[in-house]
This record gives sequence, C-alpha cells and structure tokens, in this order.
Amino acid sequence: MREKMKTWKQLEEKHPELLTLKKSRVWPMPDIGEGWHDLIDELMCAMKKKGYIGEDFKVIQVKEKFGGLRFYVDGLKSMEAHSHLMDLADKSYKICEKCGKVGKLRDGRMWVKTLCDECNKKREVENETN
Ligand SMILES: [Zn+2]
Repeated sequence: MREKMKTWKQLEEKHPELLTLKKSRVWPMPDIGEGWHDLIDELMCAMKKKGYIGEDFKVIQVKEKFGGLRFYVDGLKSMEAHSHLMDLADKSYKICEKCGKVGKLRDGRMWVKTLCDECNKKREVENETN
C-alpha cells in the first residue's frame, strides 16, 4: 500500500519531476488542496509506469480549474499519453480537494470546487461570514 501524501514537499521528494513545474514567486507551491495530493501521487506513478514521463513528456503545471485537477504538459510524446493523463485527472471530480474524502462538484456563486459534504458546509459558513 502506498504511503499517504501529506505535503507538497513530500510529493516533490517522491516525484522529482514535479520540481520543474512553473511556479510563481509569490506562490511557490501549486495552489492545490491537500485532498488531491494522493491523486497526484497516483497519477505520477501511473504515468511513470507507462513510461510516459521523461524528456518527451513533461508536466509543466498543475492547477485547479473549474473544480477539476488540470495538468499542463510539454513535449507531448503522443496523444495517448495526454489522454491517459486527462482520464486519470478526471477522478478529481469525485475527490474532495480539501480533505480527500468522496466529494462532488459544488457550484457556488463565485467559485466551483470539488468538495465533500463537510468541507462544503464549512465553505458555505465562511462565505456567509465574509
Ligand atoms: Zn472534504
């Protein structure tokens, strides 16, 4: 069984490929909730197993967009590699970005996020008080 990924730093240690991600100076880590760290680990392992990650296929950015996990890649080796990655990333729509529990896409007034019931409730409370 795989160890649980806790921090982004641990992810980078296990997958040095992630160190080459484009990061902004103000935000040195990708703005991704910890709930998805295990999924990113799983994804990176799956891609490596298939021999997709290397000189010909680099992950240059990982981000959350419209509630889903997005990977931006460079040096596309094949369409197959890219679609494989996209299929795997689709799992993010069923995993709470904050805590990793079973989640679903939540449509807020100002945001779209994939969250579990609990985190969604917290989010609603935060939104009301802000
Ligand atoms: Zn949650």
